[in-house]
Amino acid sequence: MDPVNQRVIVLGGGVIGLCSAYYALQRGMAVTLIERELPGGDNCSMGNAGMIVPSHFIPLAAPGMIAKGLRWMFNPESPFYIRPRLDPALARWAWLFYRHSNAKHVEKTRELLRDLNLESRRLFAELAQEEEFGLAKRGMLMLCKTAKGLDEEAAVAAAAREIGLEAEVLDAAASARLDPSITMSLAGSVHFPQDCHLDPARFLASLRRRVLALGAEIASGVEIDTLDIQNGKVRALLSKGRRFEGGHFVIAGGSWSPSLLRQAGLKLPLQAGKGYSLTLENPPELPSLCSIFVEAKVAITPMAQSLRFAGTMEVGGLDLSIDPARVRGIVKSVRDYFPRFSETDFKGVKPWSGLRPVSPDGIPYLGPVPHLPNLIAATGHAMMGLSLGPVSGRLVADLLAGEPSFRSIEQMAAGRFS
Ligand SMILES: Cc1cc2nc3c(=O)[nH]c(=O)nc-3n(C[C@H](O)[C@H](O)[C@H](O)COP(=O)(O)OP(=O)(O)OC[C@H]3O[C@@H](n4cnc5c(N)ncnc54)[C@H](O)[C@@H]3O)c2cc1C
Repeated sequence: MDPVNQRVIVLGGGVIGLCSAYYALQRGMAVTLIERELPGGDNCSMGNAGMIVPSHFIPLAAPGMIAKGLRWMFNPESPFYIRPRLDPALARWAWLFYRHSNAKHVEKTRELLRDLNLESRRLFAELAQEEEFGLAKRGMLMLCKTAKGLDEEAAVAAAAREIGLEAEVLDAAASARLDPSITMSLAGSVHFPQDCHLDPARFLASLRRRVLALGAEIASGVEIDTLDIQNGKVRALLSKGRRFEGGHFVIAGGSWSPSLLRQAGLKLPLQAGKGYSLTLENPPELPSLCSIFVEAKVAITPMAQSLRFAGTMEVGGLDLSIDPARVRGIVKSVRDYFPRFSETDFKGVKPWSGLRPVSPDGIPYLGPVPHLPNLIAATGHAMMGLSLGPVSGRLVADLLAGEPSFRSIEQMAAGRFS
């Protein structure tokens, strides 16, 4: 066969694109990875909280989210905000989000999210055996400041156990015993022992090395503007006249995917959800487990000797600018849970921002684009793109090879809202 017809062209050098390239190469396919940033450049996959989360089996679109979201809308320091604007794509996304925020949807999707996260965790462990990238399999703590928060999380723990996940409710003293390296002010916590954490930039660097070693071509600093589609097939991706021809194409462009997929006739409901992270190089204390402040919605992850705080979901378009009020909201919450910390610890720390690609039903898009079987969409991972990176890459490779995947992924169909 003509080698061009065998080549896989992957757009996007974030965790989803890199994992897709890696598992395709593992199957012996020729791969070109296209990324508009230069090597080591930034994207949502670099500065996130680095958590691998079987605990996140409840999608973002869940009961209570709408009421909570509306309350948060009027507080400039709150962890959630939708910037109101006249945009039909945003209106459609918000309507679909509203339609899915119910218990029936959670019940229909929780086993899929569980299976994807557990399979991905297994693949992370497999990858770590070949090259170390700091995978810490110590579990995660949901830290509750209030009794109400703890009651809500205890209900989540019970639901987790119902579907076979491990979860244990702890009072304040038991939480402190589990991680004595950090002073906490809490009502209690829930421990999810199957969760893990890592430094995402280190993991991405390791993936880059692996794909290069397996023979991938990486086109860095190349921004794709056009899909060349002829006779029901994608022929090439184009960048200012440069052509990247192949037999199969994967769009893993994160929050920027919808504009490219529109050229393929797919109106993908997807919004960018901006989040921030702040990394303390010399924190006053260093926990050994990663955790989430439940009421404040802030994630905390130890990465070697540093400590990262991440939070906020701001649905406001493709805008990476920093809103100081929301960053202040993150910083102010820290002392409430970790009393040995103060706001001055964050003086001079530069906030990082990233855009999560958020689908309205909390399920990623992974599958062929309707009527274009050689074009695969792999995006919409929202708050769990790092966690679901390896399993997504593996699923993309299964599709490329025409082989069955480890479970049905019909619910992830790219055209499910068409
Ligand atoms: C504050 C914060 C904390 C988070 N914490 C976690 C966590 O703990 N665990 C977890 O699992 N997830 C977490 N996430 C979510 C996770 O970071 C994302 O889901 C994930 O990074 C998405 O990966 P991606 O590859 O789809 O997108 P990206 O990382 O954005 O990569 C897409 C790439 O495509 C490239 N691209 C786009 N368009 C083009 C084009 N036309 N031509 C060439 N290149 C193009 C972009 O430059 C970019 O590099 C967090 C996110 C944030 C913001």
